[in-house]
Amino acid sequence: MQFSTPTTRITDKWLFGLTVVCVVALLVLFTDKGLQQSRDYYWPALKVLTDKQYSDAIDQVMAAPDAAWREDNNPMNAGLSDEPVWLRFTLPVTRINQQAAYIEIGYPLLDSIDVWIHSGGRSGKFHAGDAEPFEQRDSKYHGFLFPLPEQEGSATVFMRVQSSSVVKVPVKIWQQKAFWEHISNTNLVMGLFFGLLLAMALSNLFFFFTTRTLTFIYYTGYVICLGLTLATLHGFAYKYLWPEQAWFQSKAISLFASTTLIFAVVFSASLLEISSHSKRLATVFKVLAGAFGLIAASALFLDYAVSIRLFLVLLTFTVFLIMGVAIWLARKKVSVAGYYALAWGALLVSAFTASLDNLDIVSINVPSQVLLVYGAAIEVLMLAFILAISYSRQRDFMLAAKEDALEQEREAVRAKQALIELQQTTQDELEYKVGERTLELEIALRELSEANRELEKLNTIDPLTGIRNRRHFDKRLQAEGRRSRREQTPLALAMVDIDYFKSVNDQHGHSAGDACIKHVASILQQQLKRLSDDVCRYGGEEFGIILPNTDTDGAEQLLEAMRAEIAAQPCMFDGKVISLTISAGVVSGVIAFSDEENSLLKTADERLYLAKQAGRNRVVAKQ
Ligand code: GH3
Ligand code: MG
Ligand code: MG
Repeated sequence: MQFSTPTTRITDKWLFGLTVVCVVALLVLFTDKGLQQSRDYYWPALKVLTDKQYSDAIDQVMAAPDAAWREDNNPMNAGLSDEPVWLRFTLPVTRINQQAAYIEIGYPLLDSIDVWIHSGGRSGKFHAGDAEPFEQRDSKYHGFLFPLPEQEGSATVFMRVQSSSVVKVPVKIWQQKAFWEHISNTNLVMGLFFGLLLAMALSNLFFFFTTRTLTFIYYTGYVICLGLTLATLHGFAYKYLWPEQAWFQSKAISLFASTTLIFAVVFSASLLEISSHSKRLATVFKVLAGAFGLIAASALFLDYAVSIRLFLVLLTFTVFLIMGVAIWLARKKVSVAGYYALAWGALLVSAFTASLDNLDIVSINVPSQVLLVYGAAIEVLMLAFILAISYSRQRDFMLAAKEDALEQEREAVRAKQALIELQQTTQDELEYKVGERTLELEIALRELSEANRELEKLNTIDPLTGIRNRRHFDKRLQAEGRRSRREQTPLALAMVDIDYFKSVNDQHGHSAGDACIKHVASILQQQLKRLSDDVCRYGGEEFGIILPNTDTDGAEQLLEAMRAEIAAQPCMFDGKVISLTISAGVVSGVIAFSDEENSLLKTADERLYLAKQAGRNRVVAKQ
């Protein structure tokens, strides 16, 4: 994924270049000062006593013949050896440009140095070394400094050097005044350097507190430990930080160098995001950090010579690994990796040049420790710069990712809203449809019940006459019987039969008979006065009449009126006038027990029979 636009990349590159140029320019400015002083010091030729037969006593060493001494380089380097080394050099003059001079030994980590100066028949002895507390030194200079005799003359100097660490002896003869000028310049550079480290450490510590990004704290750790390592290497740490702890001074280099490397490894892994590129490589980095951790812990107990050897082996591997990984990632177009390789390159080149200078392969005017400091300064600045770029890109990426997530969330909300709306419409539609169907169903039910009622009604209607039939009569009789019994009201019943109907059929035909039945039914119906009165076709040409709440007299009157009306209105059929008469039996009574209405009906039937017997066309209401 592309984190930045090409424009910001160019800006990054320019800023990066500018930072490097500024730092280098500043360093050159300070270095130039040092170069001008070059006529004020010189490196004497050293001789080393190689023959071991001379005991470790100055008298015997002084008595050793010239053949026992061999010329050596200055700086003399005996490597890692805790054997005492004897050095000898002669100075043709003890003064430089008519001024007093110093012997400076520019390697502050030597355990013990004894110096004997013989000049003009007199001799002086000095002792120094970091195996004893700094506080006890004659000269409070952070390195080793021995004054040469003030008077003009030649001098022979013997030196016994012993150290559990590297025995490296750079011997320089300095004009005193020039030396202090040089030191004040160097101290300014060193002060600036340590100030820079402190500022970087603090600012990145604050970055860590505000952003909680671990890479910042790794960087802080790296810068502090690197600073402590270099301060120890230069003798400043012993002078200012632990002047009384000689034991700690002997362990400090391997301790701080190892912790520096722990942070360098975790910082590199974190900045280059190794784990996202290769899991195996990430494991290698973790193991390396752990190994440096072990060395750091063991540095306090193990012999310096052992722990520093382990450290150097691991260091070589680590430096090349980090460089290799940075270059590999840069080729994979991981943008900060290129800068990172450059930053490590700066430290490597300066360390390499310093080593060449130490080994006297290349001679440069800048002291090797100072060269290392320059390399470290450039590296620290570059790393801080890279860290800033990396953080800003990560933040851009995170912001973009956040914006993406937000957009997705918004999309999800929109989709949900649409779904809810869809659900709502579907539900509304469903409810509407259900309502519609329910209504249809209700209508259908209503229609059905109406049809049912109609059917019921049809079931109780006589098709010929259109009045109620026998089925209805039976039901009605039962219902009115109950009511009479309940309400103690008289129930009147009448049975009506058309007289001599058989002969009507015989004379005029069945159709005429039917018309006559219809004619009689309609007259009977018309004569009814109350809604509760009911006339039904009981069967054939017989009719049953129910008159609730009617006594015998009332019923007799009604039946009499019916009889008179039928007798007065003959049936007209097919142009023929068919006279008709009826006979009726009437009864009325209050029902006292169940089914009494049926016996009441039977009485009415008996009275009808009586009416027939009495000559027809009459109403019988009594026995
Ligand atoms: P009575 O005065 O004694 O009643 O003499 P009647 O001739 O009416 O005798 P009855 O009641 O026994 O005769 C009934 C006759 O009515 C029998 C049948 O031919 C006729 N009848 C019965 N139902 C119908 C009908 O629905 N239509 C026609 N046309 N005739 C019917
Ligand atoms: Mg009959
Ligand atoms: Mg009859």
